[in-house]
Amino acid sequence: MKLQAAIAGYDAGKTTREELTREQDAACLDSIQRMEATGAPIVSDGEQRASSFATYPITDTLAGTGLAENLAADGQYFAIFTDGHHRQLPRLTGGPFRYKTFAAEYVEKAMKMATRPLKQAVIAPSMLSLLYPLDDEVKGYSREKFLEDLCNECERDIRKSFAAGAKRVSIDFTEGRLACRNDPKNPWTGRRMLEQFIELNNRVIDRFSAQERTDIGIHTCPGGDCDSTHSADVDYADLLPSMFKMNAGYFLIQLASEKDKERVYKLCGTHSRADANGVPQVCFVGVINPLNPRVETADEVCEDLLVASRHIPKERLGSTDDCGFSPFSIDVKPKHGSPDVARDIAFQKIASRVKGTAMASEKLGVG
Ligand SMILES: [Zn+2]
Repeated sequence: MKLQAAIAGYDAGKTTREELTREQDAACLDSIQRMEATGAPIVSDGEQRASSFATYPITDTLAGTGLAENLAADGQYFAIFTDGHHRQLPRLTGGPFRYKTFAAEYVEKAMKMATRPLKQAVIAPSMLSLLYPLDDEVKGYSREKFLEDLCNECERDIRKSFAAGAKRVSIDFTEGRLACRNDPKNPWTGRRMLEQFIELNNRVIDRFSAQERTDIGIHTCPGGDCDSTHSADVDYADLLPSMFKMNAGYFLIQLASEKDKERVYKLCGTHSRADANGVPQVCFVGVINPLNPRVETADEVCEDLLVASRHIPKERLGSTDDCGFSPFSIDVKPKHGSPDVARDIAFQKIASRVKGTAMASEKLGVG
């Protein structure tokens, strides 16, 4: 909440950049230390320097302070959530398209704070492709030229993160499930864009060697903001067969909050590939629901993984949280009571995941 107050102050011109950076430093350090204390083998800085998982390369805050060049604030909704709120992307007004912030900046700072390996999230080219107007042509900057620039920036984002010291880089792909939604209130979701999203993302992923792709993953979820989702009603069977066509080495799959988990484990077992152009696809199944304040027990986590292991080869099975605990910097976490309460609960949940995963590993004779 202190960090959120600093962001609001920065938007209002009352907080300096230096003061905001100081709060971000403190929040990231706290995230790393508390995550390491859970025993997690790989940690992150909680993405607490980012405006959101999707907009970090192009704006400093969600209110639009520090918006990158050639962008206007009034783009399409990238998601409308079930509680009625929405999040909006900027709109491209000209070329060239360039990132103003690369995730590697966060990695560099986190490397100085962490004692364990770091993972870094980056945004998928498919999400940022929505910056280009759905039907209109941007004057003097064709869609194809934009996509070429976009792919180059995404590739750079991943390479720079590794170079800065990240052990793993995960590509956020929340728009994958939403692409199957067909919501008349949000026109792009009705354009059957999933296959072109997959193709676009592979345009970037395929620039990496098999060895590099072992450490490049994809995250799928039905969204998570203000304890609400945007596409939980889309059948996973509409997404997963396409999703595993991306030649990534691992997938972080929201699953704890699914009604019929075993059906999704089966889909993952059927459609994930033992050989995706040289890499086996590891399925990290969600065992923790960040939208629900109830802390899962280690026994529940263990049981989920044992059931999953009946459908997914155990050497390609892992656990994860369903989504980020606050993928947007201004999330108020209403079901939790407050962002600070949610923060404490988050670390309890991660501790349960770590403990329950260790229990399952032992029972399965792996790890
Ligand atoms: Zn997510």
